[in-house]
Amino acid sequence: MAGLESILENEEVKEYFRRALESGRISHCYIIGGEDGLGKMTLAKAAAQTLICEAPGEKPCGSCPACTRFLAGSHPDVLYPKHAKPTVFGVDDVRDGIVRDMLIKPYSSPYKIYIVDEAEKLSVQAQNALLKTIEEPPAYGILMLLATNPAAFLETIRSRSVILTMKPVSNPVLERYLKEQGIDEQKIPSLVRFSQGNIGKALKLAQSERFSEMTGRIMELLKRSDSMSFGSLLEGIGELEEYKLEIMDILSFIRMWYRDILLFKATSDPNLLIFGDEFSSIRKFSQKYSYNGIEHILKEIDVTERRLDANVNYSLSLELLWIAIREAAGVH
Ligand SMILES: [Zn+2]
Repeated sequence: MAGLESILENEEVKEYFRRALESGRISHCYIIGGEDGLGKMTLAKAAAQTLICEAPGEKPCGSCPACTRFLAGSHPDVLYPKHAKPTVFGVDDVRDGIVRDMLIKPYSSPYKIYIVDEAEKLSVQAQNALLKTIEEPPAYGILMLLATNPAAFLETIRSRSVILTMKPVSNPVLERYLKEQGIDEQKIPSLVRFSQGNIGKALKLAQSERFSEMTGRIMELLKRSDSMSFGSLLEGIGELEEYKLEIMDILSFIRMWYRDILLFKATSDPNLLIFGDEFSSIRKFSQKYSYNGIEHILKEIDVTERRLDANVNYSLSLELLWIAIREAAGVH
């Protein structure tokens, strides 16, 4: 089953599908949950291809007529319903793309599979319109609802579905995967720490020159936060202005840095660090800051998030944060 095997970790989910496929007990409605980049679509496609593969032995074979059409994106019995408006999956989208369409028998496969991406955008009316299809589906009908937040579905939908959740992978697995993809080894440590086990996010960031520049600059500021003059600090913050839209990423980067310092202070264990390759700086700061000082900084990062939500000016918010960081280190 190369399809499911190609998914990293997530053993529970793979095991579920393996058993369901072996026993032929396929549910008519799946909710596949998980944030963007965790592989919801990869899982849905692997399961769909396994279901429609026509080869007698191990499935999916990757080369039978059904697999060939599927891989070309043109298998008539695997459908990807779309929504007309960008922000909502409306009742008309559901009626045309799923409910009525499912009444038409499959073309060549024993199943007709609907992979519904962004299903968290299904409106309440649209979910209600789906309900009858989920309650009394034709024997061949399978729905796979891919959603960032499965908890948001109506209970009537949830209770009739098998809910599977994609999880982030461990750092060593992600690291190995990125190496296999031929990504520049120098970039890998920061990609791994920043994407927190999210393969899709890591791959996206790996393509982005901006990202490596941005993290390089923040790292420089963090490492010199206590030693640089206030003037050059302001200049450094000014240079981050071009990453205004990524401000929440910047803040989560800063948060990870101080969490590492706190963690090292408490455990002295370098193996627990996200920033393991910056070990000597982490150790230096962990000696310099008090526990209270670090917790104060972590709280200030939350405050900064709230200020930005309340539309406080971007540069001002970062300046205030950095003042708090310097105060915590005893630099004024
Ligand atoms: Zn096949």
